[in-house]
Amino acid sequence: MEECIFCKIVKGEIPSEKVYENDSVYAFKDISPEAPVHVLIIPKKHIKSINEITREDSEILLEVFLAASKIAEMNGIKEDGYRLVSNCGDRAGQTVKHLHFHFLGGRDLKWPPG
Ligand code: 5GP
Ligand code: ZN
Repeated sequence: MEECIFCKIVKGEIPSEKVYENDSVYAFKDISPEAPVHVLIIPKKHIKSINEITREDSEILLEVFLAASKIAEMNGIKEDGYRLVSNCGDRAGQTVKHLHFHFLGGRDLKWPPG
């Protein structure tokens, strides 16, 4: 996936503000934050969206959720509350076609989202 911007971020070809990293996931600050804490958690493996996840990816997905919990702790908002959301497809507003989870916290979040 030569042209994928999130693959380039994982490879360090595009700079990003790293928040957390392990063998299978990378987390970095969203360039256009919608909350005081807005982090993108992505698998290092190029997966297009939720629709392309297979059972082989189950460990990676577990790491995404463990990363979310760690990021909440690092920001002191684990008990406060936060949201993890993945937009899938055009109608949901997925602009980058590399699976990612928005970690949002640090303010009251409305429900349902727009
Ligand atoms: P989506 O709209 O696909 O759910 O979310 C894509 C997110 O990626 C957006 O919130 C957008 O601000 C963020 N984003 C797009 N390009 C970059 C980039 O080059 N660096 C960072 N840090 N975030 C980006
Ligand atoms: Zn990619």
